[in-house]
Amino acid sequence: MRVGIPHCGNAYVMAEALVQKLGNGKNELIIPPPTSHRTLDLGVKYSPVEACLPFKLTLGNLIEACELGADTLVHARGTGVCRLGYYVKEQEQIVHDLGYDARFLTLDVSQNKFRSIMSLIKEVANDAPWPQIISALYFAMEKLFTLDKMEKAIHRVRAVELEKGRANQIHREAVKAISEAKMVGQVKNTAKEYIRKLDQVPKDPTGDPVKVSIVGEVFVVLDPFANMDIEMELGKLGVEVERTMSLSRWVKYRLFLNYLGVNEWKEVHKAAMPYLKRNVGGDGWESVGEKVVRAREGYDGVIHLAPFTCMPEIVAQNIMPSTKEDIPVLTVLYDEQMARPGMITRLEAFVDLLKFRRRRMRK
Ligand code: SF4
Repeated sequence: MRVGIPHCGNAYVMAEALVQKLGNGKNELIIPPPTSHRTLDLGVKYSPVEACLPFKLTLGNLIEACELGADTLVHARGTGVCRLGYYVKEQEQIVHDLGYDARFLTLDVSQNKFRSIMSLIKEVANDAPWPQIISALYFAMEKLFTLDKMEKAIHRVRAVELEKGRANQIHREAVKAISEAKMVGQVKNTAKEYIRKLDQVPKDPTGDPVKVSIVGEVFVVLDPFANMDIEMELGKLGVEVERTMSLSRWVKYRLFLNYLGVNEWKEVHKAAMPYLKRNVGGDGWESVGEKVVRAREGYDGVIHLAPFTCMPEIVAQNIMPSTKEDIPVLTVLYDEQMARPGMITRLEAFVDLLKFRRRRMRK
């Protein structure tokens, strides 16, 4: 099997790590090129016009994986109330219509998550024994956790660094080093080394950055191509970004701990209850709850990211202004028509508003 995967942020690092530990054997991992405008063009060309951006981008990734010889494709399947339910079938049909005879392996992210990931790993694991699979998973998770820990540190430094761009450079080097690390110990040491480098970055001692929380649909929140590097752009504007959602958290809970009955969103759902009492699909319920929680925690603002026409986030967008917990919210809707300068202009205006509001509240 030559197994192709779509991209979502640094998820490929986890796939690479699994393959590193399980061995290539008769199966081979095909990582498509990093998501680019070509990927988007392919996705837009072959998707139904009304499909959401994650559908188009991941379809572009899968086509690029087929061009590199993938004969098996992995993709997420959901059974919620949004369109995720028909993603796989539709992408499978499109890929076959394009003449690629690829088989689809699906990862159920709605109901049978744990069983689904275990059977998927077992299928592509070259018949490796379970202890080896568990050790490979541990290694891959360690990489994901380390990458997310680095991201948290980088968000803090970006906002106050004196030489703009230094933290991004360290981040790029760290991702490469973590992805190349061969052992758990090496991953931990790499993290320490790059956190030290971040500590040494000259910072503005008087810096008092505005704090913004990013919420919304998981794919656009986690994928820098999809969200046009919004966190980096906010860092350039001197904003400290925080987000609850991360790949490691998503994998840890949705694929493992949810299975044991642990609900990582319990407090967030409780906070959303006065305004939205049920799951509306995707991450809409969590977006509403997070807005309430962030307002209580004293954040300066919330940036709500969503793919254009994403039903769960449209519901959230319409409920957010009516909560009694008052905090400015900027909703950014992404599609293939959107251009980065337009987003930056809106961010600049929003950050000015947050600074003005903070000055007024401190008087
Ligand atoms: S949550 Fe939104 S963007 Fe994601 S699949 Fe559902 S409709 Fe599409």
